[in-house]
Amino acid sequence: MNTELVKISVTDGEQKYIKAADYLKGGQVVGMPTETVYGLAGNAYSPDAVKRIFEAKGRPQDNPLIVHISEFSQLYELVSEVPDKAKKLADEFWPGPLTMILPKSDKVPLCVTAGLDTVAVRCPSHPVARRLIEISGMPLAAPSANLSGKPSPTKAEHVFEDLNGRIPMIIDGGECDEGVESTVITLATPVPKLLRPGNVTLSQLKSVLGDVQVDNAVLNPLKADEKVSSPGMKYKHYSPEAEIILVRGSYESFKNYVNGFSGENIYAMVFDNEGEGLSVLSIKYGKEDYKNLAHSLFDSLRELDKKGAQKCFVRYPDENNDDNLAVLNRLLRAAGFKVIDV
Ligand code: AMP
Ligand code: MG
Repeated sequence: MNTELVKISVTDGEQKYIKAADYLKGGQVVGMPTETVYGLAGNAYSPDAVKRIFEAKGRPQDNPLIVHISEFSQLYELVSEVPDKAKKLADEFWPGPLTMILPKSDKVPLCVTAGLDTVAVRCPSHPVARRLIEISGMPLAAPSANLSGKPSPTKAEHVFEDLNGRIPMIIDGGECDEGVESTVITLATPVPKLLRPGNVTLSQLKSVLGDVQVDNAVLNPLKADEKVSSPGMKYKHYSPEAEIILVRGSYESFKNYVNGFSGENIYAMVFDNEGEGLSVLSIKYGKEDYKNLAHSLFDSLRELDKKGAQKCFVRYPDENNDDNLAVLNRLLRAAGFKVIDV
């Protein structure tokens, strides 16, 4: 299969979307930009399309998909009940990087939810994603458009690297603004629970909902017998080929530790103002502020593969800042929870 790359910008008219919409109506899958990461979209009501999504990504069958809508009103056909909490969250954060989990309606096929009786729904703010949903006239099931296990794609070229030949079309809408996947919160538990941190932060959620629990798996490895709240937490994630090792401590201590190593395939991933005095090559992953790190994290991880890195020591973002939860969560998984204190 040839994979066509089509550039669509915010100012383009409906005509530009027709081919992608036709693919979607025919049960095919299309790479689409969103404000978080690129998604691999298919008709959420079509088991054939959903099967294609799982196949193209090599996604484990028990890892459910997020359904994307362009209007709050579409939520009513996807879920069995819309609680007040969902309305309040949507008022505040939709369209935007927040996914809500609610009891599913009968209309949602079980293959979308991997057999669960709940469904994950999000209303993205990216204008191209929104228009695609509107013009194709269907809610779009869309996980991140990477091969399963790889860092999520934040540019169309990342999607092409992973899925060239496996899907008919990728819409190039430029680089994603946010760079990490949506925040996932379940409203299907008595107290809402954060399952995956993202750019809608825990304190923002608490300001709307009051009490919000944080799932243990957000920052900790799963124990052997632990029941998962969100199947995606089980899997190795966000991993480049290089071994990622998080190094916690000041830049001085980081430097002393890393300078014990040498070799052309060993890298350090440091904040923008750092990199001086290192014995190994370094790449930057942003200023030490949360939004900045989130924006370029996955691109930097993919960059390591392009450079042929075998091992990379990564600076540990400030864990006392709640806003860093999303970046820490991704880094810990990329590192398989390998953290060295220096
Ligand atoms: P992705 O689409 O790649 O961003 O991954 C979606 C994430 O949402 C995965 O971690 C899933 O396990 C999680 N998810 C989707 N649907 C549900 C659900 N019904 N219950 C719990 N987690 C879900
Ligand atoms: Mg993903």
